[in-house]
Amino acid sequence: MDTRTLGFNTKLVHAGIPHDAYGAVVTPIYQTSTFAFDDARQGADRFSGAAGGYIYTRIGNPTTAALEENVAQLENGFGATAMASGMGAVSTVYLALLGAGDHMVSTDSVYGPSRGLMEKHMSRFGVASTYVDTSDLENLRNAMRPETRLVYVESPSNPAMAVTDIRAAADIAHAAGALLVVDNTFASPHLQKPLDLGADVVLHSVTKFINGHADVVGGIVVAKTEALHKRIRAMLVNLGANMDPHQAYLVSRGLKTLALRVERAQENARAVAAWLSEHPAVAWVSYVGLPSHPQHALARRQMSGPGSMIAFELKGGVEAGRVVMDSVRLAGLAVSLGGVETLISHPASMTHAGMAREDRLKAGITDGLVRLSVGIEDAADILADLGQALARAAGPQAG
Ligand code: PLP
Repeated sequence: MDTRTLGFNTKLVHAGIPHDAYGAVVTPIYQTSTFAFDDARQGADRFSGAAGGYIYTRIGNPTTAALEENVAQLENGFGATAMASGMGAVSTVYLALLGAGDHMVSTDSVYGPSRGLMEKHMSRFGVASTYVDTSDLENLRNAMRPETRLVYVESPSNPAMAVTDIRAAADIAHAAGALLVVDNTFASPHLQKPLDLGADVVLHSVTKFINGHADVVGGIVVAKTEALHKRIRAMLVNLGANMDPHQAYLVSRGLKTLALRVERAQENARAVAAWLSEHPAVAWVSYVGLPSHPQHALARRQMSGPGSMIAFELKGGVEAGRVVMDSVRLAGLAVSLGGVETLISHPASMTHAGMAREDRLKAGITDGLVRLSVGIEDAADILADLGQALARAAGPQAG
């Protein structure tokens, strides 16, 4: 059956599942490093590409391929390549699409290591980069250079929640002969489909919403065209940051409930964001579902829902935020996001600690910003937990 024409929820459950000799309903874990050939001719044909079939798990594996096909269909792309981590996906994209003398423009509030990899390491190989607030397209236009080959947008961004107009960014990139890559981790393909909006490549840390159960680290890159897909896969095969079959099995298992989890977490996040924005101890709340978010109208246009990521700051600043993080009992004090459990973290001292403070502040990542990944628990319990933690922060302990 051609699953490409089916609805999103049906694809989540059925797309990419190969039919094995035993009629397994779930793709088995092909826990093998290599695949035997019938004869030497077949081996040679597989290597030359004259015949299909598996060769070696770094190059491809049926369990991983099932996940790749599923996500490629969810994002409406030509094909997908799964990696050992989200950063494996980011590094493979940089290395596949950029070379010495090239320039990249990116969102200033991208995930810290995505920026660190570019500024501290890719720069050593002659790749230049400029980081701007891409939610203002004028900044993006002004940062483009004749040698710009890539525009790399994270939307919504981690953790500033800045939203970039993907269709307009694609037009700006393409007019300059550059490609548009979108890190779609925060939205997930359930809420946003960057390839449909003009992007050329979309990537995810599948560690987050796609897997959704905080038990796997992984990444995936989906390309719009066959040519781009081949470039990215060829780089991955040489780089060796491939996802292993057991990882892929777990991610495929988590992925089936993506829409259910995202909808439920989003419902909770709407309640939490509304509650926080009324709370007397809270200085500001950034949630794309709130009309106060500067790109709320744009988010409504290009996303089918605001998701479950919230950033906020307390009136008591860094100290009060620390008391809240030390006082929560239900929410886990941990980095990462997009899982079934509510997590709270402090980007300035954790995920974005590697960034210069000046760059962090410019990107809207204030010292007191607290990031909340709202889970699928009962909203009343999440609110009660935050309530007691905020009450402590407002009390004498906050200093
Ligand atoms: N992109 C975004 C938006 C992220 O939040 C993260 C991790 O938090 C990554 C990429 C990197 O993913 P991983 O931790 O799976 O390597």
